[in-house]
Amino acid sequence: MSSLRQWLCLALATAFQISSAPPDQSTPTPTAAELRFKFTPVHTERRCVALTFDDGPDPALTPRLLDILAAHRAKATFFVVGSNVEKYPQIVAREQREGHEIGNHTWWHPRLVDLADNDVREQLAKTDTAIRGVVGSRPKLMRPPGGAVFARQENWIRAEFGYATILWDVDSFDWVRPPPAPEAVCERILNNVHPGAIILCHDTRPGTIEAVPAVLSQLEAKHFEFVTVPELLRLAAASPTPAPGDTKAKSKS
Ligand SMILES: [Zn+2]
Repeated sequence: MSSLRQWLCLALATAFQISSAPPDQSTPTPTAAELRFKFTPVHTERRCVALTFDDGPDPALTPRLLDILAAHRAKATFFVVGSNVEKYPQIVAREQREGHEIGNHTWWHPRLVDLADNDVREQLAKTDTAIRGVVGSRPKLMRPPGGAVFARQENWIRAEFGYATILWDVDSFDWVRPPPAPEAVCERILNNVHPGAIILCHDTRPGTIEAVPAVLSQLEAKHFEFVTVPELLRLAAASPTPAPGDTKAKSKS
């Protein structure tokens, strides 16, 4: 996929993400060049992928997903919305207990590029506190809603919170409307997967949960392992630097 096409996909993803609050009208609309869409390049020799699930926990769907992941001994990363952590802390506790990673996905899912710095800070800090209250430690990762974040924001967020900003490089497109069939979600993942992939899914979409058993089975048949994002980054750090011209391993941002 060309970098232009990838940029367009993420721009579309951003455009379609639902924000639960109106944008701050005093903030100027960023130009495309000002937006930094980090695709999080990960190069690893191992056939490992990171499944990521955003926007939960969902009281019905997330426990079902956790049962499926446990049956396959697969680890995943959950980018949780703080207001949902407050409502369903026992599900977040289960995610952590079963070896999954928990990341910060803001308090109510606004686009960070529409917010003043203090509002971004409040979104992240409230969610950080909620996660810490449930799992006993602070998250290490952040994913901005819609994948939209200014480089400037990414830098101060890292300085203040210590978060790595994690986007994705394989999009299941489970967020489109009308919701795609589970088979379509599965197919999009299988057609684009590669060692080191960070796969975007949502544990708030019923079709996604239905797709996950087939995704896991088919990737297992191809000898893929399912690891958390920090584990994938550790494996990447341990892998030799890719040779120049190795397009699979290059940054796609
Ligand atoms: Zn989201």
